Amino acid sequence: MAKPNIFEQIKDVEYALIEYPEYQHSLKLHRSMLKMLTSIEEPPSKITTNRWEDFVKKFSRQITLEKPIINDLDAAIFDAQIALRICQHTLSILKDHRIEQKGIHNLNELYEALEKRELDMSQWLDAVLKGDAEWFESHGKQFKVEPAVLIFVFSKPIQPRLEEIARKIPASALNQWWQPICPVCARRPALAWFKEGKRYLTCSFCGSQYLANRFLCVNCGNTDPYSLGFYTFKNFSEFQIDFCEKCKHYIKVIYDNKLKKRIPRGLEDYLTQRLDELVIEAGLRRI
Ligand SMILES: [Zn+2]
Ligand SMILES: [Zn+2]
Repeated sequence: MAKPNIFEQIKDVEYALIEYPEYQHSLKLHRSMLKMLTSIEEPPSKITTNRWEDFVKKFSRQITLEKPIINDLDAAIFDAQIALRICQHTLSILKDHRIEQKGIHNLNELYEALEKRELDMSQWLDAVLKGDAEWFESHGKQFKVEPAVLIFVFSKPIQPRLEEIARKIPASALNQWWQPICPVCARRPALAWFKEGKRYLTCSFCGSQYLANRFLCVNCGNTDPYSLGFYTFKNFSEFQIDFCEKCKHYIKVIYDNKLKKRIPRGLEDYLTQRLDELVIEAGLRRI
């Protein structure tokens, strides 16, 4: 199961604000982002050229995949002007929600560069599509912004379209993929659902859910069961942490049949933040 469309995701945030008030700060930030993205969610999407429909059709028929779908996307399929506006809005929302005041990010310089049209959007989109870590590293230094924040901002325009692919790709292609990275967006998921004895890695970015070996570290690829461990929690029996002793990274696992309250698709990472706090205290790292 993939993430629903953005309008449904907004309804799910409203539900979560009532059921999980302890996470309201990040849920409200997320809701603002989703509302901003509704402008490009209605078909035909204004953010992509008319090549998009053919691209999606090709992948909705694919039975198997050889490489992540994002590798076949190029920046020219996106409208650079609309993408730029989405990035600007994303930054404004981060500023409105006072992400800056946490003392780690100064977003003004980047905001001005976007406003003055100083950035070549197609190059930035290209860096996002290729997952070019060096690009974000060096521009992070230039703008004094953490690379992760830059990736967050410049990935926003492409996220709804990758979610669309994740909704349309046949389950057979996802379940024969059998690799740790996401078959759609090539990111490494930090989360999984456990259903009917199987572990499904779950990408928080595009929403893909795909079958994976239970004994596999998503970070380093370790498959040795003797150096892969797990934590369970007395108070949160519906969750488990799977971790790797070799690289010290972990993923959060949600046990579908033990859930006490519904966790909507796409909000898993927000609604399990308490686990991250507990596990990071124990010396493990998030992917
Ligand atoms: Zn993904
Ligand atoms: Zn590992």
